[in-house]
Amino acid sequence: MTVSESMGGNPEQPSAFAARRAEPFFQRIAIIGIGLIGSSLARAARELNLAAEIVLTDRDKAVRLRAAEIGLGRVVATAAEAVHEADHVIVCVPVGACGAVAAEIGAFLASGAIISDVGSVKGMVVEAMLPHLPETVQFVPAHPVAGTENSGPDAGFPSLFLNRWCILTPPSGTDEAATAKVRLFWEAMGAQVEVMTPSHHDRVLAITSHLPHLIAYNIVGTANDLEAVTQSEVIKFSAGGFRDFTRIAASDPTMWRDVFLHNKEAVLEMLGRFNEDLAALARSIRWGDGDMLHEHFTRTRSIRRGIVAMGQEKPETEKLKP
Ligand code: NAP
Repeated sequence: MTVSESMGGNPEQPSAFAARRAEPFFQRIAIIGIGLIGSSLARAARELNLAAEIVLTDRDKAVRLRAAEIGLGRVVATAAEAVHEADHVIVCVPVGACGAVAAEIGAFLASGAIISDVGSVKGMVVEAMLPHLPETVQFVPAHPVAGTENSGPDAGFPSLFLNRWCILTPPSGTDEAATAKVRLFWEAMGAQVEVMTPSHHDRVLAITSHLPHLIAYNIVGTANDLEAVTQSEVIKFSAGGFRDFTRIAASDPTMWRDVFLHNKEAVLEMLGRFNEDLAALARSIRWGDGDMLHEHFTRTRSIRRGIVAMGQEKPETEKLKP
C-alpha cells in the first residue's frame, strides 16, 4: 500500500527542502479550501517564494480564522473575492465540491489565469469544473499523490510534496505553456510530474490508492465488529499489519466518500478483479496449495522491493533510523 495517499509525506522532514526562488512564479495564488493540501501548498509557496502574494479562503469561518492566525497568507471570506486578479487559482476542496466552487468563481476569474485543483479523482472533477470556466483562462487539473491521514489547516507542512508524484491531466485545448508552468510550480516543491488523461489517472489511482483505502476501511470495520476478539485485543496486538490499516482508515471521511462516489466505475472494476484474486488465494489455502501461495508472495515481495528502489518508500530498517 505504498502508493497510498495516506502514506505520502513526513512532517518531520527538514523544511529547507529546495532552493528559494529569487523571482516568484506567480503574482497572486488563490487557494480555495485550507485543509491539509491547501495549507501545505500555502506553506511551500511562501517558503519557496513561488508567489508574490497568497490569498486563501475556506467555507468554514473557524478554518479561515485559524489560517489567518498561523499566517498562511491573506485570508478572505469568499472564493469570488479570493480569485480577484489571481494568476493561479488552486481549488483544494473535496472532489464533490469542485464543480460548485468552479460555478462560484467562474465569472470572477482574471483573463489569462491558470486554474487548477488537487482532487484525487480527475475525470468527474474535469467534467464538473470545465463548463463553468471562461475561455479566457487555462485549466490544468492536478493531483499530488501525497498526503497524510490528517486534515485541516494545522495538518499541512511545506515538504509534503517532496519526492512525491504530481499528475497533471490538462483537457484537450489547454495551452501547453500553461501546463509547463504548472509542471515547474510542482517541481519547485520537489514533486515529480507526469501528464496523463483524466480517465487513465482514475484507473491507475483506483488500484494504487482508492482500493487500498477501501480495503483498510473494510478490515478495520471487520475487526471492530468481531465478537470473538475483544476491542482491547485489537488495540493491544495491532503492532502487526493491522496498525498500518488503522492509520489509513483514519483518513478524512468526507474526502474518501467523495473519491469513491466520483471514481465509481474504475474502483468497482478493480474491486471485481481483487475479489477474484482473493477467491483464488482462499482456494489455495483451503486446498493446502503452498506452492501457489509461495509463488504469489514472492511476486508481491518483488513489487515492494521495486517501490523501495524507485525511492517512493524507505525500507522498514531505514524508517527506524533517527
Ligand atoms: P481537508 O483537510 O478536509 O480540507 C478541505 C477544506 O475545504 C475544508 O476546510 C472544507 O471545509 C473546505 N471546503 C469544502 N467545501 C468547500 C467549498 N465549497 N468552498 C470552500 N471550502 C470548502 O481536505 P484535504 O485533505 O486538503 O483534501 C482536499 C483535496 O485534496 C481533495 O479533493 C482531496 O481529494 C485532495 N487530496 C487529498 C489528499 C490527502 O491525503 N488528504 C492527497 C491528495 C489529494 P469543511 O470542513 O467545512 O467541509
